[in-house]
Amino acid sequence: MSFELPNLDYAFDALAPHIDARTMEIHHGKHHAAYVSNLNNALKGTDGIEKNLEDIIKNISKYPAAVRNNGGGHFNHTLFWKILSPRGGGQPAGSLMDAINSEFGSFDTFKDTFSKSAMTRFGSGWAWLCLDNNGKLSVCSSPNQDNPLMDIAECKGSPILGLDVWEHAYYLNYQNRRADYISAFWNVVNWDAISTSFQHLSK
Ligand code: MN
Repeated sequence: MSFELPNLDYAFDALAPHIDARTMEIHHGKHHAAYVSNLNNALKGTDGIEKNLEDIIKNISKYPAAVRNNGGGHFNHTLFWKILSPRGGGQPAGSLMDAINSEFGSFDTFKDTFSKSAMTRFGSGWAWLCLDNNGKLSVCSSPNQDNPLMDIAECKGSPILGLDVWEHAYYLNYQNRRADYISAFWNVVNWDAISTSFQHLSK
């Protein structure tokens, strides 16, 4: 058994102009593909290859750095493609919106908090909206390909929204303007998919 690169649910150019086709093509077909292939190589000869990715991520301290980096890379990008949609943007509805209002005061305050977290992550990493272990929503960021599910994470929880702020995610179109990329990102956020995982985890 080995891990495989998942297909996108939309075309490379479907998220343009917010995320351009060339960036999507390289990001999925080169960067994500490399994480998958390096993860499979790193797990060869270990019992990790028989486990599901979430179990590996939750016990990442037991694995070598190559599994942490590439397993994180595979997990994070798989989540990222799912929370993007050409029909995205706007605001969530229902219980997720209620939880955001209750935790952050308003949707705009949540967006500011998340954007700041993405903006202030130094170097490469991710910003996250998580359901923490007490069932509360929280925002944080992590370095490299770490994520809040990892047992070594500084902020722990189940991520339901993630934003890749590695330069490979935006440099072709936005160069050094990470803030512009972050503000464009909100136009393609798939709140339906995020609400579904929120409801699933809240049960
Ligand atoms: Mn990436």
